[in-house]
Amino acid sequence: MALHLETPLIESRPLSQASGRSVWLKMDALQPPGSFKIRGIGAACEHHAANGKRRFVSSSGGNAGIAVAYAGRRLSIPVSVFVPETTSDRAKSLIRQEGAEVFVHGASWQEANERALQALDAETAFIHPFDDPLLWTGHATMIDEVVRAEVQFDAVVLSVGGGGLLAGVSEGLDRNGLQHVSIIAAETAGAASLAAAVKAGTPVELPAVTSIATSLGARKVAERAFEITQSRPVDCVVVDDRAAIDACMRFLDDHRVLVEPACGAALAVAYAHAERLAPFERVLVIACGGATATLAQLEAWQAS
Ligand SMILES: *Cc1c(COP(=O)(O)O)cnc(C)c1O
Repeated sequence: MALHLETPLIESRPLSQASGRSVWLKMDALQPPGSFKIRGIGAACEHHAANGKRRFVSSSGGNAGIAVAYAGRRLSIPVSVFVPETTSDRAKSLIRQEGAEVFVHGASWQEANERALQALDAETAFIHPFDDPLLWTGHATMIDEVVRAEVQFDAVVLSVGGGGLLAGVSEGLDRNGLQHVSIIAAETAGAASLAAAVKAGTPVELPAVTSIATSLGARKVAERAFEITQSRPVDCVVVDDRAAIDACMRFLDDHRVLVEPACGAALAVAYAHAERLAPFERVLVIACGGATATLAQLEAWQAS
């Protein structure tokens, strides 16, 4: 049995009214480890377990690390997560809560990742947070579920960090004969690595990530994510941090679910940038979730 759940698909009255069209929510915030990432990571971990791997290693202090820890616990396979000193206590405790070991190393993700790669051996699988076809095939199941529910849509709104979710949704659309469906790719200013790639005509490295939406903080998108922008309709929307935070707070009131600003970026397209949805009648928004922000943190961001 898969490690992810089939999540609720609901027509959102508040988001439909805010944006003036029918908005459906795929509620992946309700996955047990708190985000959509378990779809792809769960599939990758099951693949590696079936191929004899005895340990999983991750270098993500965010939702990917939490998802690998969850998958390891479910599969009875030990997990080591290497994170930089900047990782929050909350993220570390969520990883430990799933029974994984956390190793803190280095000032930045690059250093933690190098240490993680040194820890690999023949029996260990390294689980990348976004740049892996096994992940994309797993993420694509969210579109299979929407199609099976017979809900029609002409656009999908999703958040982009490194582009794994984008690649998965694109694969899901393709394998269900929905090549014509547009993708609205939301990022926050200061983490807009897909918009930068589209502008430059190739993936480029951001000098720094300055957004509070740390789960969107890949400095450079996967090559595959850029390719998708060249082969199907993809519209990049960049929202500011404040719009993403406000969207999280409104979503909490409207749907009683707490999500990270990374997810708030996609919600903000419907709440605050509905003009970008003008060409569409029925919009599917991926409520991708995220477990690393608390209500107190959201309130502090909103007040600052
Ligand atoms: C990882 C993540 C994203 C971005 O996904 P990518 O595959 O890196 O583009 C968005 N939102 C949340 C909550 C995430 O955990």
